[in-house]
Amino acid sequence: MSEEILINVSPQETRVAVVENGILQEVLIERNNKRGLVGNIIKARVSRVLPGMQSAFIDIGLDRTGFLHISDIIDQNEHLELDKVVANLHNTSIRAVLQEGQDIMVQVIKDPIGTKGARLTTRISIPSRYLVYLPDHPMLAVSQRIEDLEERNRLQQIILDYHGKTERKTVNSDMEPVENFETIDFNGILDKGGFIIRTAAEGANDTELHKDIEYLYKLWDETSSAGQKAKTPKLLYEDLALELRTMRDYVHQGVEKVRIDAKRSFDNAINFSEKFLPEFVPRIEHYAGDRPLLELFSVEDEIQKSLNRKIQLKSGGHLVIDQTEAMTTIDVNTGAFVGHKTHEETIYKTNLEASQTICRQLRLRNLGGIIIIDFIDMATSEHQRQVLRSLEKHLEKDTSKYIVSELTSLGLVQLTRKRTRESLEHVLCEMCPTCEGRGKLKTTETVCYEIFREIIRESRQFEAEKLMVVASQQVVDMLMDDESINLAELEETLEKPITFQVEPYYTQEQYDIVPL
Ligand SMILES: [Zn+2]
Repeated sequence: MSEEILINVSPQETRVAVVENGILQEVLIERNNKRGLVGNIIKARVSRVLPGMQSAFIDIGLDRTGFLHISDIIDQNEHLELDKVVANLHNTSIRAVLQEGQDIMVQVIKDPIGTKGARLTTRISIPSRYLVYLPDHPMLAVSQRIEDLEERNRLQQIILDYHGKTERKTVNSDMEPVENFETIDFNGILDKGGFIIRTAAEGANDTELHKDIEYLYKLWDETSSAGQKAKTPKLLYEDLALELRTMRDYVHQGVEKVRIDAKRSFDNAINFSEKFLPEFVPRIEHYAGDRPLLELFSVEDEIQKSLNRKIQLKSGGHLVIDQTEAMTTIDVNTGAFVGHKTHEETIYKTNLEASQTICRQLRLRNLGGIIIIDFIDMATSEHQRQVLRSLEKHLEKDTSKYIVSELTSLGLVQLTRKRTRESLEHVLCEMCPTCEGRGKLKTTETVCYEIFREIIRESRQFEAEKLMVVASQQVVDMLMDDESINLAELEETLEKPITFQVEPYYTQEQYDIVPL
């Protein structure tokens, strides 16, 4: 599989496109005026403790306070002046750990989404190319995606060698394991904190890993000493800009080329690469072509299409994707009816194609949370099984974590996809102010009849001599044309003249009735 990464940098925003075999798979967008907060380390202040919820609101220097739950507070940490409390989640009250007005160092783990404030943790972690550094957690873990046992041991040994610990000692402890990582607790063998070895480290050598360790130690020293001096609240550490994060997190052996269309970002990427991925330097290219970079592989078109509700399938069917506050629903539909005999086979083929398209769309649109897929009902259980298998197979390519439920007899599959960023739609779109998200407007006729009722109500309420209707052009047109007879009758009943005023800024649904 050939993979290419395109990085388009403009003064306002950076856009990254991950293209596999010529097909856009993932888009990342960072607007300079609203860079994400995930990864930021902040010296913050506890503004309110909520004992009932075992959590606290934290002032992180933004309009909205952040949210810190007890499960995201480490058990002991001198930086936080937490009096070395063991935060046993079951019997420790958050009040014993945090007091209002207290200064703490927190890290953002989830951007504010919708009305929710940023989700915070006090378990600081800082990523590099091959490692994640946990300054307060003396443990060593390897990503589960590195499956080879020998390779796992080799990588751990390199980290231990750096610290002059030649003998690996596996200690069993009650330290909670990091999600999805097999954890070996070295119980303080690494006295400056712990490391998680990332998937990207597979095949990396001593020098590369040691360079990462040094980089992380230095970064943490700077951050923590800045934290001691800073006034609260203060941003102490910010993750790299998107183009460098892409180099750090998205580049792997399978990536043939990275094209960047801005010279300065290209230079930064080269510098970064020389330090951390020297063998990759020749694959980074400064793109200076006449065609805008994201028009290659039709990336711009694909981004536009990924905002549509409806997606056409090659087999003739289509998908309808709806994103609501609570969940995303995906409806699979057949195309035109194709005769009885082939019907079951057509349904099966459509569902199979849909399963693949859905996985790509989830990644492309960055849809997270609960996802309900309504496949077309299948008569045979073998077909059901195959569709579910196909879905799972394609999900494996996505780096996000999934939980997939069984296909129910109604043809429904529920997925949960982990998300830390906003969906593409949330980044690029806002609620339609005309229909306020309903996607539908009251018809002109409905609005006219509402106006009639309102006129009757107002005329009883006010002793006006005449009434003026202020409404949109379409509504006024209809009142004076199709509805003119009804209007004349109304004027007669009320014994009051009714006049009209077009307000060009009103939407179809907006109107006012003014007594004169
Ligand atoms: Zn609308």
